[in-house]
Amino acid sequence: MTQTAAPTTGSGGTAPAPATVLVADRLVRAHAPDLSCPAADLVAGEVGRRGARPVRGALRMSAEPAGAAAATPADVPEHARGHAAVIPGSDPPAGLGAAGLSGAEHPAGDRAAREALDAWLAVAGVPRSVLLAAPRSFCAGVERAIEIVEQALEQRGSPVYVRKQIVHNTHVVADLESRGAVFVDDLDAVPEGATVVFSAHGVSPQVHSQAAERGLSVIDATCPLVTKVHTEARRFASRGDTVVLIGHAGHEEVEGTLGEAPGRTVLVETPEDAASLEVEDPERVSYLTQTTLAVDEAAEVVDALRARFPALRGPSSDDICYATTNRQDALSAIAEEADLVLVMGSDNSSNSRRLVELARRRGTGAHLVDDTGDIRPEWLAGVRTVGLTAGASAPPGLVDAVITALRGLGPLTVREYEITRETIHFTLPPQVRPS
Ligand code: SF4
Repeated sequence: MTQTAAPTTGSGGTAPAPATVLVADRLVRAHAPDLSCPAADLVAGEVGRRGARPVRGALRMSAEPAGAAAATPADVPEHARGHAAVIPGSDPPAGLGAAGLSGAEHPAGDRAAREALDAWLAVAGVPRSVLLAAPRSFCAGVERAIEIVEQALEQRGSPVYVRKQIVHNTHVVADLESRGAVFVDDLDAVPEGATVVFSAHGVSPQVHSQAAERGLSVIDATCPLVTKVHTEARRFASRGDTVVLIGHAGHEEVEGTLGEAPGRTVLVETPEDAASLEVEDPERVSYLTQTTLAVDEAAEVVDALRARFPALRGPSSDDICYATTNRQDALSAIAEEADLVLVMGSDNSSNSRRLVELARRRGTGAHLVDDTGDIRPEWLAGVRTVGLTAGASAPPGLVDAVITALRGLGPLTVREYEITRETIHFTLPPQVRPS
């Protein structure tokens, strides 16, 4: 069922952009309770992909007698006409969660609104289930790093400078930025004497030296499990070994670890790299791994190294951290049962990307999703079971938001598979530890 809705915008707004589309998060009815629009984020994302600018607000249903007040964005024109899509038979009455509208003189916006609604209507109205992997989302190292920036802001005031993204997630960075954190790529951008936080991924000793030369007040948010790998790198190099670091070139954690023993460490990414590696003394080779690798892929590289260097030595306990391992194991438990896997996480999040790859290796289509608006309607065509997880740097609220949005498409059941409960907590560094 498609109903027509009209906007309740006042006339004092600024001139609209040509292709502004109002995506309703609430439909106001004169003689009935409002309809909430839980899938509004989904429709807004599709409107954006179709070239219009979505804005959020309420719509008054034109089929209802006029008179209800509703808040609407000021930049949607008063004369704009709208389209609302409501899923029939939902109980409680739930809309697809969306109405798009734009003025008749804005055909691009009008088309984007209609097409976005049609695309989502095409996959709405069928029962679905969500298999929720647990553990998921924030790990102890990420929670600690975020809390360090929060405490620094509270205790020292803004700005607090942060070298690189504190953790690899756009939402976390935007939130801290809005509270006074200033993210920089290089220490040169930090004023002399200012406070700077080093990110959870760790830095090389050279960066520590540069900060000392600049007289910066450093708070190190390196995850203790990354620090463990740095310590191993120094120890292995000091006993005369060639240190083989298994990891991804260019990742900040890898750059930091390489800097611990730059003359003695080589980076290896694949079994093929390992098989062709030449070292000074094949009897003296050790390996380390980036903390966020795929467990099975790292094992293949270690096997290739051991085949080439039988005397290979490694860390006493695995470098791939508990959080990476748990999230991969939890997803493994549900991936094959799902028709589609969604992994909440940003594009530069290594452990999130490994989760997507893992699901695909299990034969299930998977996508990395920064937020609900990234989900595309075509992904859900024919999908009844959605596997859902989040990388270690992705806030838990993102998962909740996806579940809410999927409920707007039709009946939804949610089942959680918890393979283990995480209780690890890292203490804050003394500089920001509350007294
Ligand atoms: S993913 Fe692992 S190594 Fe990275 S911050 Fe979290 S606990 Fe630390």
